[in-house]
Amino acid sequence: MKIPILHLTDGIHRFDDTINTESLNFKKQDIYRTPLQVAVELNKFSQNIQCQIEIKSTASYQCDRCLKAFESPVDTQKNLLFHIGPDRLETNEDDVVHVDKETVEVDLNNDIVEQLLLILPIKTICRNDCKGLCSGCGVDLNKEECQCGEKPIDPRWEKLKSLIK
Ligand SMILES: [Zn+2]
Ligand SMILES: [Zn+2]
Repeated sequence: MKIPILHLTDGIHRFDDTINTESLNFKKQDIYRTPLQVAVELNKFSQNIQCQIEIKSTASYQCDRCLKAFESPVDTQKNLLFHIGPDRLETNEDDVVHVDKETVEVDLNNDIVEQLLLILPIKTICRNDCKGLCSGCGVDLNKEECQCGEKPIDPRWEKLKSLIK
């Protein structure tokens, strides 16, 4: 997504776009299959352009426990500050991007991808109380009772078993 900045007047400017994730070329595209609704708001004041990128979409995951496919809404924001000109802007903010004053447009695709990867959960679980699959027979324990005897054995029976031996 390219944003023209060369002749931008001071004040607020808004850009909306729908981005097909295939055009972004990044890993984890299997998760982000739904087109991204991107809204960019720029606020220009002299040599600075505050940039807020809002990304909405739907992520497709596979549950780590039961392996079922499920979807989850994505609604995330990233803020950048473009600083125009030869001088360096001294600030504690990490996301300052220095551009020279001849820059016609800025490309936000890398920032969008970065943000999508940043918000990926470490674990993907379809719901908090997902019981997962039985390690013995593989049934989905959310749907059916396991029949394979993987249930913990009553310690009293365990004792009896050893007596029989
Ligand atoms: Zn699950
Ligand atoms: Zn089982």
